[in-house]
Amino acid sequence: MPTYDYECGGCGHAFEAFQSVSEPHLKRCPECKKPKLQRLFGGGAGFLFKGSGFYTTDYRSAGYESAAKADGPGGCSGDPTSCSRPGCGDA
Ligand SMILES: [Zn+2]
Repeated sequence: MPTYDYECGGCGHAFEAFQSVSEPHLKRCPECKKPKLQRLFGGGAGFLFKGSGFYTTDYRSAGYESAAKADGPGGCSGDPTSCSRPGCGDA
């Protein structure tokens, strides 16, 4: 379960809250009871966001690589008369 950092815009009270990602964000400050809480991006939650970002980037670049390979030698028929790849059939 991720940890979210909250800070109150009313009294400045800051704290961490353990919440499920499906739970709505907290709004009411437990100290001053004003609905001025703001969720901070940092700490555990920020780390999680970075992690998923890296994963997405890795996945994407891997996809680009395989797509490039399909256009290159992998997609070559080996027949110089029907393949437009420069140098096809030389090897
Ligand atoms: Zn407060």
